[in-house]
Amino acid sequence: MSIEKVDTLVVGAGQAGIALSEHLGNNGVPHLVLEKNRVAEAWRSGRWDSLVANGPAWHDRFPNLEFTDSDPDAFAPKERIADYLVDYAKMVEAPIRTGIEVLKAERNVGGAGFTVETSQGVIEANNIVAATGAFQHPVIPPVIPEDASIEQLHSFYYRNPEQLPDGAVMIVGAGSSGAQIADELRRAGKKVYLSVGPHDRPPRAYRGRDFVWWLGVLGMWDVAAMKPGTEHVTISVSGADGGNTIDFRRFGGEGITLVGLTQSYKDGVLTFAGDLQENIANGDENYLSMLDAADAYVERTGIDLPPEPEARNVFADPDCLTNPIRELDLAKAGITSIIWATGFRQDFSWMKVDAFDENGKPRHQRGVSSEPGVYFLGLPWQSRRGSTFIWGVWHDAKHVADQIANQRLYLEYKGPSERACED
Ligand SMILES: Cc1cc2nc3c(=O)[nH]c(=O)nc-3n(C[C@H](O)[C@H](O)[C@H](O)COP(=O)(O)OP(=O)(O)OC[C@H]3O[C@@H](n4cnc5c(N)ncnc54)[C@H](O)[C@@H]3O)c2cc1C
Repeated sequence: MSIEKVDTLVVGAGQAGIALSEHLGNNGVPHLVLEKNRVAEAWRSGRWDSLVANGPAWHDRFPNLEFTDSDPDAFAPKERIADYLVDYAKMVEAPIRTGIEVLKAERNVGGAGFTVETSQGVIEANNIVAATGAFQHPVIPPVIPEDASIEQLHSFYYRNPEQLPDGAVMIVGAGSSGAQIADELRRAGKKVYLSVGPHDRPPRAYRGRDFVWWLGVLGMWDVAAMKPGTEHVTISVSGADGGNTIDFRRFGGEGITLVGLTQSYKDGVLTFAGDLQENIANGDENYLSMLDAADAYVERTGIDLPPEPEARNVFADPDCLTNPIRELDLAKAGITSIIWATGFRQDFSWMKVDAFDENGKPRHQRGVSSEPGVYFLGLPWQSRRGSTFIWGVWHDAKHVADQIANQRLYLEYKGPSERACED
């Protein structure tokens, strides 16, 4: 049986794989995209029902296609984003095959390229690109034993308030997912506890411009690397209900009980770090620093944007912030479920190639691996802060596709003696 051969095999047809396909096509690089589920599956089955984009439609998109059916300042629902990506893949004629899982890719011994085992046979490829996503496997820190008599789920499996048992809910993690889910459950009438760690919380909008615009003009989307020591600082933003600033003091005032980082569990009692006030204060500092940077930009450029001094007003401290709880007996508090909004890990176990460091992290420069022919796309901070976002991955995809095309040119080169042999 003959083995299918392809120049570049892209694994994953989320936004990363689709964007890459467009750029590979523009560069004339023959390629194939394999997707184990459906196109843009993460936006269909990997998010809760009410999720909308964190950025407005004018921004959270690829440059070559607008969301024509909605207000550009609105926040697209998750299914609309999935449909958008499907439409985009059709527009760029991306050669995608769905329902095929890549099980293993390894370098050919004594020859160029890779042998790739899939759920539907073997493919040989000169290059492989892992576009398999940064948010693949939900991570729950090992705090509460799995067999403890309380329902525990990761935010990845949260769908809507009706899914939870009666009673109060504890949400661990106050990044965008945890904060949005906490707000949704509070509005649905649940008693909510929210464990808040270090976070940034930019203003949703300031002086008439959304924060995505401010990050753009201030060059903050393009920051190349996280500030050392901020690896655990999450960003808390929301497009829900037309988009509002995440303000944990407001959450407290509305009845959500804030607690510090979740630390340990024993005999039904959960213990929290004493860092709640510090985390809230640092979040405030981040918020105010963005207002300051925006004001300085307005002053420097003379751009006509209305002042908004009320953005600096601070809600009163709720009692849970003045006197933070350090221990909570879950049963006594009536907590019947815990949602872990504690992030994800990637999975490159199918890549049997020498492209990872001792911690299993890809060794790469802007997605170009140290291992010839191996590429990554959609990694957090692949080239900049915006790398995992819809618009950001498109630019990284262009770079990766250009590098693949460049390598093809080098490999096509023939030296004088080889040319002479051909004549
Ligand atoms: C809750 C949440 C909300 C977000 N909201 C926004 C937002 O509003 N705006 C924004 O810009 N970004 C947002 N993001 C970030 C990012 O845009 C999404 O996570 C996006 O889905 C990442 O796209 P991707 O193509 O890199 O990965 P994915 O969408 O995860 O696509 C990877 C694909 O690879 C496939 N795959 C994996 N392994 C294999 C294999 N071995 N063989 C074949 N196929 C495989 C998967 O099935 C998947 O379809 C959000 C992320 C999360 C978690």
